[in-house]
Amino acid sequence: MKQTEINVAITSDFDDRGFHNVLEWIMVILFPFSTLAVYGYCFMNIPVWTYWFVVPLILLSLFISDILTGFVHWLADLYGSPTTPLVGPNFIEPFRWHHIEPTAMCKHNLAVTIGNSCLFAVPLQVLLIICMGHYSDSPLFNLSSLVLNTIFIATVLTNQFHKWAHSSPDDRSTIAHYLQKWNLILAPDHHQEHHTPPHTSSYCVTNGWANPLLNKIGFWKKMQWVLSYLGINPDKSSHI
Ligand SMILES: [Zn+2]
Ligand SMILES: [Zn+2]
Repeated sequence: MKQTEINVAITSDFDDRGFHNVLEWIMVILFPFSTLAVYGYCFMNIPVWTYWFVVPLILLSLFISDILTGFVHWLADLYGSPTTPLVGPNFIEPFRWHHIEPTAMCKHNLAVTIGNSCLFAVPLQVLLIICMGHYSDSPLFNLSSLVLNTIFIATVLTNQFHKWAHSSPDDRSTIAHYLQKWNLILAPDHHQEHHTPPHTSSYCVTNGWANPLLNKIGFWKKMQWVLSYLGINPDKSSHI
């Protein structure tokens, strides 16, 4: 598809979306409080012997988050269109636009960067807090809540990590620089693999931990084959 045709279907004006933008800001402000509330409940209720599991579970959560963000990224890159109801303008459009102008996201404010993710995460965290009130005696439930909450944080912050992967070194904070250097978040060099034609690998953008494995086994090609078998085909107007 020609570049001009893509630009007709996709606009870059993500900073002025009226009420949706207000809602995003509200959720961005609420997110740290709901996050701390869930962690607070977890650590108040888990027995001391379960502390051994905390670090491995957090690492597992970060790996799962990477796969989840890769899955959403892959879906948005290939399926639906910017005009698909609900998800088109707010999810598919930014992903498609990102391939055309990879550094455009660096100009987005915090609400545009992580607001949509907070819209999902905050209500789920509130639901989790309500459930924790009923199952506070269960170590399994509390450890599961720890995993879920870590996944919420990692997936919400993924767009910020992705944004840092495209930022110039001068625009990156020292913390971001070291997190990238230690491969705790998506590193620019690693992410460049996805922005290299044919753009069909390395979809995971939280920390990229899952990319080597998924690329090696051809996971995304196999997923595409499964969906095609079910009659769900990629968007022909996709830039890929
Ligand atoms: Zn992509
Ligand atoms: Zn990118």
